[in-house]
Amino acid sequence: METKKIIDLRSDTVTQPTAAMRAAMSTAVVGDDVYGDDPTVNRLEALAAEMLETESSLFVCSGTQSNLLALFSHCERGDEYIVGQEAHTYKYEGGGAAVLGSIQPQPLDFEPDGCLDLNKVAQTIKQDDFHFARTRLLCLENTQGGKVLPLDYLAAASAFAKEKQLSLHLDGARAFNAAVKLGVPITEISHHFDSISICLSKGLGAPIGSILSGTKILIQKARRWRKVLGGGMRQAGIIAAAGIIALENQINRLVDDHENAKLLAEKLGEMDEFYIAPGSVQTNMVFAKLLKNDPTPLGKHLLEHGILTRCASTVRFVTHQDVTSQDIQKTVDIIKQYYAS
Ligand SMILES: *Cc1c(COP(=O)(O)O)cnc(C)c1O
Repeated sequence: METKKIIDLRSDTVTQPTAAMRAAMSTAVVGDDVYGDDPTVNRLEALAAEMLETESSLFVCSGTQSNLLALFSHCERGDEYIVGQEAHTYKYEGGGAAVLGSIQPQPLDFEPDGCLDLNKVAQTIKQDDFHFARTRLLCLENTQGGKVLPLDYLAAASAFAKEKQLSLHLDGARAFNAAVKLGVPITEISHHFDSISICLSKGLGAPIGSILSGTKILIQKARRWRKVLGGGMRQAGIIAAAGIIALENQINRLVDDHENAKLLAEKLGEMDEFYIAPGSVQTNMVFAKLLKNDPTPLGKHLLEHGILTRCASTVRFVTHQDVTSQDIQKTVDIIKQYYAS
């Protein structure tokens, strides 16, 4: 019996490793990475540093760990970082900076375009006074909810951080989506930051892993903290091999994901049942607000037809390499069928 294809639009983390990744993993030359002996991990870290034009990179198990290591490496106990209210590094990482690092978050609302207003950030920086935590770091996110931060904003944020003597970290889980959307090399983004975290396991399709990149000194600190957190991996070249393929082969195809998201947004946008904020669909994410009805039966209907989404009052659809334009058309058809019945 033919098994029906599941169209999984919940996230771009659900991608299956490509055939090339599986082949590379099966033949990867490995060693003990805690001793620095894994040639494949070393090659991935060197490749990432070269692509991002940073001094050094570190291969870590997840984006959450990567951001946490960045926070630990920029900040000390009693320091503070300024971050978006809805940012992954604040809201979706279990409060790790505070829980494990005694680093205080200072969240601020994102602007509708995914930026943090630098005037508001300036007002939030605390004076040098022992009543206050020491404001040390500004964290941005790109893409933010699928939105691409403009390059001139990144330049302004970088100049601002220098002026205010703050470090600047980018949660660039999907930074390659941003670069591809802008049609610029990733360095046009990475150059503005003291550190950048990139997920290999989202749109780039690797099974596991993220990269933290920055100065040698910062990455040395992060390497130490990675060990402290139990993140020192041994023959990690097995998974790093897939990460190399992700960086070498998987970036340009992100265009297809963006096209598919646009297609889905256009089709849903024509329907009375959905509201999609104008200009919000820039990369591989569609947030469609339900205007008329309860998400639960819609989610159930989609599930019954093999379509997985994050179906709440706003439905989130994320496109990736395992979703084709036919899958998008089918998703639209099934949604239309639901409203027609
Ligand atoms: C997914 C994601 C992360 C964390 O990655 P994990 O590998 O899931 O820990 C960090 N930031 C953003 C913006 C993300 O989307």
